[in-house]
Amino acid sequence: MSKPDPRDLLGIRDLLTGEEREIADTVRTFVRKEVAEHAGRWFEDAEFPRHLIGAIGDMGLLGMHLTGYGCAGVNATSYGLACLELEAGDSGLRSFVSVQGSLAMFPIWKYGSEEQKEQWLPGMARGEKIGCFGLTEPDRGSDPGDMRTTARRDGSDWVLNGAKMWITNGTLADIAVVWARAEEGIRGFLVPTDTPGFTAREIEHKMSLRMSATAELVLEDVRLPESAVLPGVKGLRGPLSCLAEARYGILWGALGAGRACYEAALDYATSREQFGKPIGGFQLTQQKLVQMALELNKGLLLALHLGRRKDSGELPPELVSFGKLNNVRTAIDIARTARTILAANGISLEYPVMRHANNLESVLTYEGTEEIHTLVLGQLLTGQSAYR
Ligand SMILES: Cc1cc2nc3c(=O)[nH]c(=O)nc-3n(C[C@H](O)[C@H](O)[C@H](O)COP(=O)(O)OP(=O)(O)OC[C@H]3O[C@@H](n4cnc5c(N)ncnc54)[C@H](O)[C@@H]3O)c2cc1C
Repeated sequence: MSKPDPRDLLGIRDLLTGEEREIADTVRTFVRKEVAEHAGRWFEDAEFPRHLIGAIGDMGLLGMHLTGYGCAGVNATSYGLACLELEAGDSGLRSFVSVQGSLAMFPIWKYGSEEQKEQWLPGMARGEKIGCFGLTEPDRGSDPGDMRTTARRDGSDWVLNGAKMWITNGTLADIAVVWARAEEGIRGFLVPTDTPGFTAREIEHKMSLRMSATAELVLEDVRLPESAVLPGVKGLRGPLSCLAEARYGILWGALGAGRACYEAALDYATSREQFGKPIGGFQLTQQKLVQMALELNKGLLLALHLGRRKDSGELPPELVSFGKLNNVRTAIDIARTARTILAANGISLEYPVMRHANNLESVLTYEGTEEIHTLVLGQLLTGQSAYR
């Protein structure tokens, strides 16, 4: 019997299919070759590596869990594994892929007209067209049902007014999926970003997800034809269903950042010496590493379990909350503990740990905060809603 591998203690790789392993390996190799060495600089310069979009499209990672229209149509577990490997590079890179696939392509694929799908999805799958998802507003985050952005009918046109805040890919996007309040309820609109009245302003001075492009969208009398509305959905369940898709990717992705921090700490603990021996030889360091390994591997088992349930068509949104809540928390704990093992070096961008730790603060907040997912599960357990 061979000894367990400290980098895959439970042998989770053996639980994957050949195709799943191949996808994970391809993305891992890409990240090691094209991302790892540069991620610190992109973070420091607040620069999104646009030049990688084509390669990401060529690997089939954009809208990879969707079928038809040039999308790869792989299973949910493979999508999760790809998110994990991308986020081992940087949460900003994974955010780009999550937003493109789950928040921009998914609503078009699920709720769009045939024309909308043909017009946008193949180019988006190739990475030639970029999408963003505008739900959050400057004054409405956790409670998007109370949004202020409006969509008014004017003859056969729609006219949109309002503002959206913290929109990932906002300044990169060719097409914005904007959710607005119409007379009949919340509707989704496909807004080409060159439409008069639409502007995207980069949000600067972020201390987290610096590699990711994050924008404020302003809509001032944005006039759209009837064909811009997503015909297949009305109400808050439209945007919420997209968020459930993206969150599923996050519950895997966050563990990629966690794994990168664990591995950095493991490497450091076996090479850094104090008091005449590697710091990994001290009991307190070992306790930290063991705790990280326990939580990382439990999180991976959870992700795989939820992936298998999603692939069998039986993953209720509350369990996505369960996964996001647990795995982002796990990843943050690992990143913070890894930082203490690297001590002073831990705060440097020469090492990935502090960058991941900072990024994970955004991951904890977006796609439903830790508090909101706690309340989702609290409601499931007790039958009582504690939101209001
Ligand atoms: C880097 C980044 C990228 C993002 N990308 C996107 C994007 O692409 N598209 C998009 O639409 N949005 C995006 N967001 C926005 C994100 O989804 C929101 O920040 C999130 O929903 C929280 O909203 P808020 O920041 O307005 O906080 P608020 O909703 O104001 O919450 C403030 C605090 O109050 C708590 N709280 C709120 N309501 C309750 C309650 N009922 N009970 C208990 N506690 C409560 C929250 O948990 C939080 O701790 C992004 C955010 C970040 C940071």
